[in-house]
Amino acid sequence: MHFIDGEWISGSSTFDVTNPATGEVIGSVADGGAEETTAAIAAADAAFDSWAGLTAYQRSDVLYSAWQLMVERHEDLATLMTTEQGKPIKAARNEVNYAADFLRWYAEEAKRVYGETIPSARADQRFLVMRQPLGVCAAVTPWNYPISMLTRKLGPALAAGCTMVLKPAEQTPLCAKAVFEIFDEVGLPAGVANMVNASNPVPVGETLLSDDRVRKLTFTGSTEVGKLLGSTASAGVKRVSMELGGHAPFIVFDDADPVHAAKGASLVKFLNTGQACISPNRIYVQRSIAEPFLDTLSERVAKMQAGEGFTAGVSIGPLVDEASVAKVERQVNDARAKGATVLTGGDRLTADGLDAGHFFAPTVLADVTPDMTIHNEETFGPVAPVIVFDDEDDILTKANDTSYGLAAYLYTRDVSRAWRIAEGLRFGIIGINDINPTSAAAPFGGMKESGIGREGGHVGLDEYLDTKLVGWSV
Ligand code: NAP
Repeated sequence: MHFIDGEWISGSSTFDVTNPATGEVIGSVADGGAEETTAAIAAADAAFDSWAGLTAYQRSDVLYSAWQLMVERHEDLATLMTTEQGKPIKAARNEVNYAADFLRWYAEEAKRVYGETIPSARADQRFLVMRQPLGVCAAVTPWNYPISMLTRKLGPALAAGCTMVLKPAEQTPLCAKAVFEIFDEVGLPAGVANMVNASNPVPVGETLLSDDRVRKLTFTGSTEVGKLLGSTASAGVKRVSMELGGHAPFIVFDDADPVHAAKGASLVKFLNTGQACISPNRIYVQRSIAEPFLDTLSERVAKMQAGEGFTAGVSIGPLVDEASVAKVERQVNDARAKGATVLTGGDRLTADGLDAGHFFAPTVLADVTPDMTIHNEETFGPVAPVIVFDDEDDILTKANDTSYGLAAYLYTRDVSRAWRIAEGLRFGIIGINDINPTSAAAPFGGMKESGIGREGGHVGLDEYLDTKLVGWSV
């Protein structure tokens, strides 16, 4: 179903949604295109003045109620997410908490859209700066975090007074529907948030970006698609924010505890089966501690159990589709052929009923070199490529040698080194002895080809606000 102008709309054609762990069809949703998108834009445009005209306190109340209902539905949402997206139930519960946090945080921030006054050089003049909502925003979201990627956009957009048309990923429309049901039930006025589902995203994207009423695009997904949408949006001089791909370095210096660092690497690398934009893609370990680090990492990874996300003990879910398994397999085979050593894993998993889903064994690769595809291309799968390095002097050059710039991690007990390296890394998010540098209260986003703008934190609201200067003669 689409959600347009406060109504649930079923279309004449539908597409199926499958469980990536079992291949089972778990539902079907209306398949939309240009017509539904145009109707959604019209609804968002019509709703804009009255939504923007509410007080910040009234908009805050709606977001706060949505937060409460999401918390109440926590278990149902987590169950749906595991069924539709595949992540283990514990990870799904964590994501629902993270998603709900954005609603609460922006319910609070809605009341803090401050302007400013600026002294003038003229005695008879005053300057006033106002912040005002941008208007109708187009949002396009991915499948890997199918609830939190929506609230990370809806929270600040609605808090600022914007209205929205959202196209969720075709693999996870049921999670998106569950989010919109919450907004519907808490009384979000008709037309303020609209959703169009599509099996072919192109007509939806083109309609959104060619319509002058849409003043902003907020996109989370691959760099490839981000570039395409960004260039179209620029033709209409729309504001753009983008959360794109990553290729995170994870640097372990010789003064760090290799066992602790390996534990961290195993947790963050295999989070969401490696299908996270902040997932480490190049793990650099200094030579003198490489052995204990690799031993601990491979030992921990060898014990990880892959399977359906409701099965006790499972920490590795399926990849989203066959193309993702094939991509990981291609990267691992390429690395093998060029001299990498497979310490554990290395192949797709098909035994014990896993052939019905899209599974790849959690894998550790040693002896990874720059000529290997995995060294340069985002993996988005459960593979930890490890590279041994010697000097601090050139590790920054190596870590920064990528067109991406989203997340980077470093382990060291030397505070000066931590400061030097964190300052030198050209990435938007840095974890120092920390594997979860994310929060609704903190700015999330990338440098270089990993994105434009930030989501989360008080700066997340700026992405949905225009600045208006008033010069006033007194
Ligand atoms: P994707 O293929 O770029 O798709 C993302 C979204 O864009 C989906 O809704 C997709 O629709 C839509 N889309 C694709 N082509 C389009 C077009 N021509 N016009 C309009 N919409 C279009 O990315 P993904 O595979 O879903 O997600 C994985 C990527 O997202 C990774 O690179 C990951 O690093 C990145 N990511 C980044 C962040 C971050 O915060 N930086 C967070 C999560 C994920 P369909 O589903 O219908 O194809």
